[in-house]
Amino acid sequence: MPRKTGETREQKKTRAAKVVKGLKGRYPKAATALEYSTPHELLVATVLAAQCTDKKVNEVTKSLFRKYRSPEDFAKARLSALEKMIKPTGFFRNKSKSIKTLSGEIVEKYGGQVPEKLEALVQLAGVGRKTANVVRAAVFGKPGIVVDTHMIRLAGRLGFTGEKDPVKIEFALMDILPRRVWGDFSFMIVLHGRETCKARKPLCHICPVEKHCPSSPGYSETS
Ligand code: SF4
Repeated sequence: MPRKTGETREQKKTRAAKVVKGLKGRYPKAATALEYSTPHELLVATVLAAQCTDKKVNEVTKSLFRKYRSPEDFAKARLSALEKMIKPTGFFRNKSKSIKTLSGEIVEKYGGQVPEKLEALVQLAGVGRKTANVVRAAVFGKPGIVVDTHMIRLAGRLGFTGEKDPVKIEFALMDILPRRVWGDFSFMIVLHGRETCKARKPLCHICPVEKHCPSSPGYSETS
């Protein structure tokens, strides 16, 4: 359940900065767990990661990226061949179609280079703000907040927003966090959600931001 704190925006910004500092101490090198060697590969891996674990995606992309080495290769691929390789990640028909189409769009509109702009990325087949922000933050070093299942849960527990809609959560977080930390914060939250602030039972007693989290038993508004 999202926690309401009754803080002003400035107080929330100050607390958010403390949370970022605490997370940085625990996860100094947070990054996406998806394996890739080019922006296009990360784009493909992120599309595959919808409703699938990063571990499974990495297993699949190991052979996928060996067979298809460029956006051109993916654009020319037979859909049935792609589907066969992508099947273990689930929703393979839609994912295969998106990957083939978006690769063709990248070849035709952008000369084979993944665009950096959010507005251009979200126009590609199967690419929403979440996928676009992963690519922007991980490979282009651009500010982007990735709102996935961990972010939705933790933004609420940390009392940063009571919103449930991913785009509203993204904008609420953009309002209280400085742009330079958006990417890092996103990757740290994924690790924190997996390792400590777990969905069923958050491990508040070993949490590095316990003092600054309104969902923790020991929180006081003056922390
Ligand atoms: S204190 Fe508990 S609820 Fe808050 S972020 Fe840490 S683990 Fe999650």
